Amino acid sequence: MNSKKLFLLILLLIFSVGSAKNPPYVILISFDGFRWDYLNRNITPNIDKMISEGVRALSLKPAFPTKTFPNHISIITGMYTEHHGIIANVFTNPETGKEYRLGDTVSTRESEWYKGEAFWETAQKHGIKTASYFWPGTEITDSSRKPTYRKFYDHFKPYRERIDTVIQWLSLPAGKRPYFISVYFHDTDTYGHDFGPNSPEINNSIMRLDSLVGYLHELLNKINLSDSINVIITSDHGMTEVSPDRVINIESLLTEYNVLIEDHGPVMRITPQKNDIASVYNLLKSTHDHYSVYLKENMPEYYHYSESSLIPPVIVIADLGWSLINDGISENLKSWKYKGDHGYDNNTTDMQGVFIAEGPAFKNNYETGTLLNIDIYPLLCKIYNLPQADNIDGRLERIEYILNEK
Ligand code: AMP
Ligand code: ZN
Ligand code: ZN
Repeated sequence: MNSKKLFLLILLLIFSVGSAKNPPYVILISFDGFRWDYLNRNITPNIDKMISEGVRALSLKPAFPTKTFPNHISIITGMYTEHHGIIANVFTNPETGKEYRLGDTVSTRESEWYKGEAFWETAQKHGIKTASYFWPGTEITDSSRKPTYRKFYDHFKPYRERIDTVIQWLSLPAGKRPYFISVYFHDTDTYGHDFGPNSPEINNSIMRLDSLVGYLHELLNKINLSDSINVIITSDHGMTEVSPDRVINIESLLTEYNVLIEDHGPVMRITPQKNDIASVYNLLKSTHDHYSVYLKENMPEYYHYSESSLIPPVIVIADLGWSLINDGISENLKSWKYKGDHGYDNNTTDMQGVFIAEGPAFKNNYETGTLLNIDIYPLLCKIYNLPQADNIDGRLERIEYILNEK
């Protein structure tokens, strides 16, 4: 064999060994509304074990508004809401009049709403199969933009069955197996809304989710993958106490104007007639002191909430624990049932979520400060050694120090 042939053979060998190497595994878990300090209640032994073997951030800073769909999409795309386009759980495109609505199986499947590239899309572009048990945004119909395997949302699907399916996915033959899996659980959000973040009921919910973490690790052990799998626990936002005694009826302040009011609770988005924008803004600004009101173009920069044609001209943000209501809610205040809510300023302590990560990619027994949820997408790209999508807001250099240096 001459030296040229030998060189080619070595190249071929290197290439085939390299391509046969499996990608890393990541299971990305979302516990909806799991506030950062729930971990300090001494009721999470299974998550504590993960922390002792991995990384724990003081908190995970959500994007604004601190709602479910906007933040799941921020985590999975690395973009602020103004860039990925899911600016609320429910909103209207002012140009087309079309509505996007969480839970609506028509709008959530349409590709046009999602301006960012989800990590499952990035992974699949590079031949890595992915799976998702309910992450918002996985509903999308376009086959190049959805996870390889997915389940359509079923609020009542028993939690252990979700974990069992994750284990089945991980047990598929190598060519079919997903290496990136995202899973979603609503429990702490539901109990946080219904009973408040300081109730015995929320503590039961925290314990329920913690035991699920134990169940997952038990099964990963059984299939001999516990040493090779990276598990990341995140949440989309926190929770704060609310009360019918702390409400402001914004609609009643605007009776003189013809306005479209979207949303209620921590944030209201208002579209006045063009000529009324300044007077509506000035009226709201002079009327009450338990909220902040902004013209879209003057939103403080840290909200990252102005660069989208989907965001209306006037945005009202309630002070923490206050709720913005309309006439309909005002008339039925006696039946007000919320004890907790979220959606507020993403800088407030109560709106912070959690970040815990454990596995071969991560440092061991390592505590760090607050991380930004938009930095998780570039972190995932780094773990899989994949190029990031263009124009993301997340920055690898803010988060990569939590990875194992090996
Ligand atoms: P919110 O607290 O209003 O921001 O939204 C939380 C609710 O979103 C939870 O109670 C879930 O039931 C619901 N949810 C989460 N993911 C989905 C999904 N993919 N499709 C429909 N509803 C969802
Ligand atoms: Zn949520
Ligand atoms: Zn919620």
